[in-house]
Amino acid sequence: MASILAPNMHFAKTGSYSVVEPGKPKEAPTPSTGGGSAALSAACTRQASTVKQMKKDGKPADQIEKAVEELKRLRAELAVAEKANAGQGTEHNIDRKLFDETVLRRMFVVPAFEIHGGVAGLFDYGPPGCALKQNIVDQWRRHFVLEEKMLEMECTCLTPEPVLKTSGHVDRFTDLMVKDIVTGDCYRADKLLEDHIDDLLEKGNFSSSEADEHRKVQRQADAYSPEELGAILEKYGIKATTTGNDLTKPFAFNLMFGTKIGPSGALTGFLRPETAQGLFVNFKRLLDYNNGRVPFAAAQIGLGFRNEIAPKNGLLRVREFTMAEIEHFVKPDEKKHPKFANVSNVTMKLFDRDAQLGTGIVSSMTCGDAVAKGTIANETLAYFMARTQLFMLRIGMNSEKLRFRQHLSTEMAHYAADCWDLEILTAYGWVECVGHADRACYDLTVHAKATNTSVEAQKMLDKAVEVLQLTVKPDRKTIGMTFKKDQKAVCSALEGLDSDKAAEVEKAHSAGQPYELDGFSIAPGMVLFTRKKKMVQVVKFTPSVIEPSFGVGRILHALLEHSFSVRKEDAQRVVFQFAPVVAPIKCGVYNLQSGSKFPPIVTRVVDLLTQAGISTKADTSGQSVGRRYARADELGVPFGVTVDFDTVEDDTVTLRERDSMTQRRVPIAALPGLLRELCGLDGDVVAWKDALSAYPEVGASEASGPITLETTSRGVFSRPAALVKK
Ligand code: AMP
Repeated sequence: MASILAPNMHFAKTGSYSVVEPGKPKEAPTPSTGGGSAALSAACTRQASTVKQMKKDGKPADQIEKAVEELKRLRAELAVAEKANAGQGTEHNIDRKLFDETVLRRMFVVPAFEIHGGVAGLFDYGPPGCALKQNIVDQWRRHFVLEEKMLEMECTCLTPEPVLKTSGHVDRFTDLMVKDIVTGDCYRADKLLEDHIDDLLEKGNFSSSEADEHRKVQRQADAYSPEELGAILEKYGIKATTTGNDLTKPFAFNLMFGTKIGPSGALTGFLRPETAQGLFVNFKRLLDYNNGRVPFAAAQIGLGFRNEIAPKNGLLRVREFTMAEIEHFVKPDEKKHPKFANVSNVTMKLFDRDAQLGTGIVSSMTCGDAVAKGTIANETLAYFMARTQLFMLRIGMNSEKLRFRQHLSTEMAHYAADCWDLEILTAYGWVECVGHADRACYDLTVHAKATNTSVEAQKMLDKAVEVLQLTVKPDRKTIGMTFKKDQKAVCSALEGLDSDKAAEVEKAHSAGQPYELDGFSIAPGMVLFTRKKKMVQVVKFTPSVIEPSFGVGRILHALLEHSFSVRKEDAQRVVFQFAPVVAPIKCGVYNLQSGSKFPPIVTRVVDLLTQAGISTKADTSGQSVGRRYARADELGVPFGVTVDFDTVEDDTVTLRERDSMTQRRVPIAALPGLLRELCGLDGDVVAWKDALSAYPEVGASEASGPITLETTSRGVFSRPAALVKK
């Protein structure tokens, strides 16, 4: 296989939603969390035999009692672990072939440039995929931007190099890569290790403690240095997957797409790898727009570009994807959130870093407890995690298949205070779909320093307080001798330093280091420090930022999987059970019988609903209505209107719900209001049974037969008892 940039490397495998590069290894799901229960179970067995042996050996009663107590404790822990892990292991089973085939055939997602062979990691959204994505984004905007009164921006994708040099992306936005030493094939080194360990554990016979050790190595795969990872790949004897050849040592590969801006080619730029930088560089204006008040949040929805080494698994790892990012700016020492009480009772599944390296147990905890116990660093971070979970539930994600995984300390940047990923269980294992990071003051500070722009916010205190202010006094003689003609500029820069900056100079000097100021190196001994008491009522600070970062494509893929089900009597009859709020098409309109009277009524209903903002699709083909329902099921249409002979008489129609397949007789004029309620277009979604309680039930007419929903990725759905026409 050619190198990563060779054009002929990227052929799409037609007929499958996933574009697979030739010779790619099989995709392995990420590990489940069963390892912790296994370790505890083994500990219980060991403790039970210890107790048995002690009794046999006639050990003193108090010692035996202690050992029994320990056994009871371990058993209780095991019970909790098993409960917490229920549904988190390998419970997510879908027919992936049927899923991929339906996603592609019904044009939710298709490989980009397919007729030219395609390019791995690039996908187009077809009509239902496009509408589904737009609906997810609309809900996101409503849930976050509107409800939290965020300042939304749309910044450019093309970004000049100095911005990304400042943010650290030019130097550090890398993944570790290894190459086949013979063919030059490229592999992402950490993924190679993860896949290898999956294979090893699947095929080998390991004790639970050995398996736990391998899992620990696997969990840290993307946190190792190149040298550490190289040593581990060697220890495991890992070779190139397709050829079995030796691999190079891991080296850093920058994931940004570079380009030149302007015709001269003088300005180097990149396609942005995230939307966040646009918000940071606009911080000063945003603060002014917000009348100087902090906290506030800025948000942006837009494309991010990453030249992934090994794109795979459909939309899960691609090279261009929509992100929705929030930068919530707070005073660094005030991370309480005014609306925390609204979410403190939300229960979340937390996989903290100790558990990842130890027991492997995912704990269920309320948001309030997690902050009180220090599991999550602060209220604002926890608030956004809970809000993210509520958003996922609103768009129809399965609550059992969500968890938050804390970053290991080796995974986090040195300045970050705490990070948690929302992971969603898919057919490919647990997948990070939203990152939540407390990034402290890093981003604003580096841009401020590089551009000499103030990013300080102010806070007015209720009453003046006494503070000790540190000032820097230049030693003019030494400075004059050192900087000669620049001495005036250096002195005035030093005298202009505020207390915080003076503290930075003092810190550098007490460590024996010079301090860099506007290009001048201020060595220890060039300044004197003095402290004065001062009454202040305004405090200045550089805000910290808490950043939730959503990958819209991953969320859409997970939602497709969680909504995927089949009718019980026909495992090939697919139904996407989208929540009505996100369903790409909300309502289908059908004529029950043929005849010239019906098409005008169908058109009238479609127009009425479309004008009411309800996306509607007519299907007046000559096929049985059951067949047409089946077609609508594949697009996840939640409601169907059928026009029949009675309609001609009394202007009523039957309205059918996709999941229960129950039907009610309603006047055409009532449809817009009902459907807006059912789809949550004006507020909360109103349940079918509540919205339709005033209307009579009618019998189902499923001419194509199968009408019961099979166990699905979301649970068991079954048809209610036969309904009698009233
Ligand atoms: P990050 O900035 O790496 O934390 O990414 C933020 C979010 O973007 C992640 O939580 C994912 O949902 C999404 N994401 C990152 N990389 C990719 C990718 N290559 N393909 C699709 N989504 C991605």
